[in-house]
Amino acid sequence: MSSLSQDLGILVGGEFVARDSADHVRAVVDPARDTIIATVPEASISHVDRAVHQAREAFDRQIWAGKDPWERGSTLLAIATEMRHVHDELAALESLNVGKPIAQARGDVHLAIQIFDYYGRVIVDYPTEVIEDGPEQLTFVTRVPVGVVAAIVPWNYPLAIAATAVAPALAMGCSVVLKPSELTPLTALRLGEIASKHLPAGVLSVIPGDGPTIGSRLAIHDEIDQIVFTGGTETGRHIMRSAAADVKRIGLELGGKSPTIVLADAPVQASVADALQRIVLNQGENCGAGSRLLVHESRYDEFVDRLVDAAARVTIGDPQDEATTLGPMISATHSERVRSYMTVAAKECQEIFVGETPSERPLVDGFFAPLSIWEAKPGGKIWREEVFGPLLAVTRFSEEDEAVTLANDSVYGLMASIWAGDRGDALRVSRRLRVGSIRINQASPPLHGPWGGFKHSGLGRSQGRYGLERSSELKQISVNLTAM
Ligand code: NAD
Repeated sequence: MSSLSQDLGILVGGEFVARDSADHVRAVVDPARDTIIATVPEASISHVDRAVHQAREAFDRQIWAGKDPWERGSTLLAIATEMRHVHDELAALESLNVGKPIAQARGDVHLAIQIFDYYGRVIVDYPTEVIEDGPEQLTFVTRVPVGVVAAIVPWNYPLAIAATAVAPALAMGCSVVLKPSELTPLTALRLGEIASKHLPAGVLSVIPGDGPTIGSRLAIHDEIDQIVFTGGTETGRHIMRSAAADVKRIGLELGGKSPTIVLADAPVQASVADALQRIVLNQGENCGAGSRLLVHESRYDEFVDRLVDAAARVTIGDPQDEATTLGPMISATHSERVRSYMTVAAKECQEIFVGETPSERPLVDGFFAPLSIWEAKPGGKIWREEVFGPLLAVTRFSEEDEAVTLANDSVYGLMASIWAGDRGDALRVSRRLRVGSIRINQASPPLHGPWGGFKHSGLGRSQGRYGLERSSELKQISVNLTAM
């Protein structure tokens, strides 16, 4: 399936450390079949400390940060080129390990490559500001790398989120220690293997391991300057508390419960297709999943009828099959969690649609959860909590004010979608929503737009120039121009 070498494991400072019989290993599983696809050694605390120390040394000696932006940029472009050569292998690996449909995995790999390409290009043109505050003084305002960055990433977009965290930090001149999710270390390790061929020793480490031991160690490590974390809100809080001890910089990209608002004059067919896509994409294991749907009461019945028709055409099954649109949940535990929300929904809500799961071997052993759609009561558990699966809560509204109030009534504030016939109405509603990204009539946020959330959805912004800002500190240098 993949050319992942059996020797890959813990990448410390650009070198894979030899496997040791004492290493704790973890089985990496294909969630569609519950079969083992690889075993990966897990980092110990001493691996973490070595990786962080090498990153610190590389940074303090300016081995990478001291290179000019052209050189750093061309290194990132070379990494992108090499990833492009193994695009299909990375996509197959991502699909197999996460259980995401192969077409979506190809999209993720393409995105990860674009991210390296983007930062490789823009870093050469990163501006310095000059303040002329009088005839006798100039002040230069520059951005300098934040230092040693620990990137802790989740399992739902292992490669794309790793690229979002790592590429801007490297472009800026930081050293990076990347910790993938214990469930999905494979593409992050491949990325590390590829990138290390181009980077000086010590600059990048990839340390597979669990959150409570390895992730926590990074969060308290005094040689780390910044934690860039993507994952659940509760883990984000924990990291924030740990980082407070030595005032580490933090970037947090956390959970969501994103609303889709369908106004009375919205095109129904297109909005139905989009609403369904927003909950089926990546099995609903998507921070920006459109998991709450608000439909104007005048169109509600028509909308729901069409939604049920479209839902019946969703193809659940083998992620490697081109026809599949819905794969398995990441793990047995997560599938049980999603199903337990369905049990709550059956009590709290009115059922609109419940799909099937594969019944043939070997997929019958996989961690599938069906697509389910519920008429939900705002305020209930199903309406408020992030399920992180293919479960859609639907409700109706009568006035625009009510839609805005319902949409904002969430601890999360990551994303929202609006469907409208009149763009003025959509814009008016969008200005009142307390979320970081808004899509109107299916437009998607650009790769280089600011990504991040309000409220419990996170802190700070990634992507584009915002990723470079996050990876840097501002510094001003004032020069006296008079002869002294
Ligand atoms: P998670 O919080 O369980 O784990 C994320 C990462 O943190 C993993 O690498 C994990 O090993 C590590 N971790 C766990 N406990 C830790 C601890 N105590 N200290 C340090 N590290 C620890 O999240 P998950 O289940 O992997 O991902 C799902 C969550 O991520 C969802 O809530 C989803 O909304 C969120 N997410 C957000 C975005 C975004 O851009 N806002 C993107 C993807 C996922």
